[in-house]
Amino acid sequence: MELIVLGSGSNGNTAVLRSNGTAILIDAGLSAKKTLQRLEVVGLDPAEINAVLLTHEHGDHTGGLAVLLRTLRCPVYATRLTAEEVRGQDKRNAAAEWRLFATGSTFCLESFKITAFSVPHDASDPVGFTIRCNSLALGILTDLGHINHSVVHHVTGVDCLFVEANHDEQMLQADTKRPFAIKQRIMSPHGHLSNRAAADLAVRARTPALRHVVLGHLSRDCNSAELAVNTVRAALHGHHAVQVCSAPPDGLLPSVRLGP
Ligand SMILES: [Zn+2]
Ligand SMILES: [Zn+2]
Repeated sequence: MELIVLGSGSNGNTAVLRSNGTAILIDAGLSAKKTLQRLEVVGLDPAEINAVLLTHEHGDHTGGLAVLLRTLRCPVYATRLTAEEVRGQDKRNAAAEWRLFATGSTFCLESFKITAFSVPHDASDPVGFTIRCNSLALGILTDLGHINHSVVHHVTGVDCLFVEANHDEQMLQADTKRPFAIKQRIMSPHGHLSNRAAADLAVRARTPALRHVVLGHLSRDCNSAELAVNTVRAALHGHHAVQVCSAPPDGLLPSVRLGP
C-alpha cells in the first residue's frame, strides 16, 4: 500500500492511496490542473483512479472536483450531507456519479475495505477514514478540532497514520495576520488540530504495528515542518520504529510505502 500526498494545507488537500491495482483520491481540493500535473510527476495515469472519497465539503477539500471529473470520470464517495453541500457549491458536481455511504459504516471499494467515522469539525458531516488492504491499515484524519474516544478507537492499530498537525499553539496565538475570531475558530473543538494534539493522538493510537506518521494540513504562518515533526517525535520518544514526516503546505510528498 502506498500513500502519496499531492497537496495538503489551506491551498488544497488531495492524496492518493494505491495498492493491488486500486487507486483512490482522498479529497479533491487542489485545482484539477495541479492534481493532474502532480499525478504525472508520480507516474500515475488519471485513468487508473477508481474513485474520489470526500472527507467534508470545505473548499480546500473539494474545490478542484468539478473540473477534475471531466478527466477522471470515476464515482465520488461521500456522506449524503457532504454530497448535498458539494452539489450546491458547483452545479457541475450534480452530474457526478455519487456513491453515498453512512457515517459509521464500512464498505468495499475494489481491494480496499473502508470505514468512515465521524470527526469533530465545523462541516455538515465530516469524516475520517480507516482503509484496510492486505492486512495493512491506514488512518486518515484531516480537519478536526479535537481528539475523542471514537477517533482514537478507529485509528488504533493502524500501520500508518495520516493526521492533521495544523498549528503550533504559541505561533497561532502570537500571529498578527489572523483576526481573533479566526484564531478562535481554528482553536475551537470543531476547528483544527495542533501539533500537540496530533502528537497526543499518535501516542494514544500507537501499537507495535505503527510504522509511519504523516503530518498534514500544516499552516504556513503558524507552524513549521521541523516543529510539527519534532513535537510528534518527542511524544513518541523511544519508538524509533515509527517514521514521522510532514507533507509540505504547498507541495508533493511523493510516497510513503506501507508493508513489503
Ligand atoms: Zn481543510
Ligand atoms: Zn475543513
